[in-house]
Amino acid sequence: MPELPDVEVFRQHAEKHAKNKKISEIRYNDAGRVLKSSKQKISRNLKGQKFTGSARAGKHMFLKTDDDKWLAMHFGMTGFLKHWKKGDDEPEYSKVIFSFDDDHRLSYISKRKLGELEITDNPEAYKKENHIGIDALDCSFKEFKEALKDKQGGIKNVLMDQSKVSGIGNIYSDEILYQEKLHPKHKFEKLDEKQLKSLHKTIQRVMQTAIDNKAQPSDLPDHYLLPHREEGNNCPDCKGKIKKIKINGRGTYVCPKCQKL
Ligand SMILES: [Zn+2]
Repeated sequence: MPELPDVEVFRQHAEKHAKNKKISEIRYNDAGRVLKSSKQKISRNLKGQKFTGSARAGKHMFLKTDDDKWLAMHFGMTGFLKHWKKGDDEPEYSKVIFSFDDDHRLSYISKRKLGELEITDNPEAYKKENHIGIDALDCSFKEFKEALKDKQGGIKNVLMDQSKVSGIGNIYSDEILYQEKLHPKHKFEKLDEKQLKSLHKTIQRVMQTAIDNKAQPSDLPDHYLLPHREEGNNCPDCKGKIKKIKINGRGTYVCPKCQKL
C-alpha cells in the first residue's frame, strides 16, 4: 500500500509533468469505485483548468486548480500516477486519464478497484472530514507528542493510526521500529521522553531517506531492514535471522535479537 514516501514521489511526479498545463479532456475507465465525487463533478471542476499547485497529508495528495478547487487523491492498495504522451500505449489499469492540451497525459492507475478521487474545497477541510492526523514528515516533536499523548497499546498499531500521525503504514513502521530496536508489540505508553524524541527523529529520517530513494525499499541503505525484509534473511546488524510475525493480520518483520519484547 502506498505510504507517505510513495505518495510524496507521486506528488513530485505530478508537479514535474502536469503542472500549469491546460486540462483538455478527462476519460474514465471502469472508474466507478474509485470516484468519491461524480464524473460530472470532477469534469466540471477540472476541465479547462490547470493544476497550479499540490499538497500532501500523510498518504493523501491534493492538486489545486487555478479556480481554487482541489482534487484529493488516495491510492488504495496498489494505486499510483503515471505520466505518458499521446502515441504511447495507454498504461494498463488507467482508471482516470487527464489529457493536457500539449499531448501529455497523466493516468491515475489502480489495479485493484480501490482508491479515492474527490473534489474538495481545500486540504484542511478534507483532512478534518476524513480524520487525517498530522503529517509524519512535517511535524515538530511537540506536535508529535501532543498528537499521541493518549495512545496506548502496541507501538506498531499506534504508529499506523492515521487519525493521529498520518503517512506510516505496514512497511515503513517495520523499518522505524527496527532502527529504534523496539519490538512492534512494545507498549507505546511505556516509552519515556528520550525514546519518544528518538522515535520522532527516526520517523522523519526514514521517510526522507525513502523519498530520496524514490520510495524503492530495495534501494535503501544496506544497514536498513527493508532491503532484507524477508523471513530467514540475515539481520544487517547482528546477522541473526529475520522473523515474520502477524500483527492485526499484517505481515510484520522483526529481528528477535535486536528488537526484544
Ligand atoms: Zn538483529
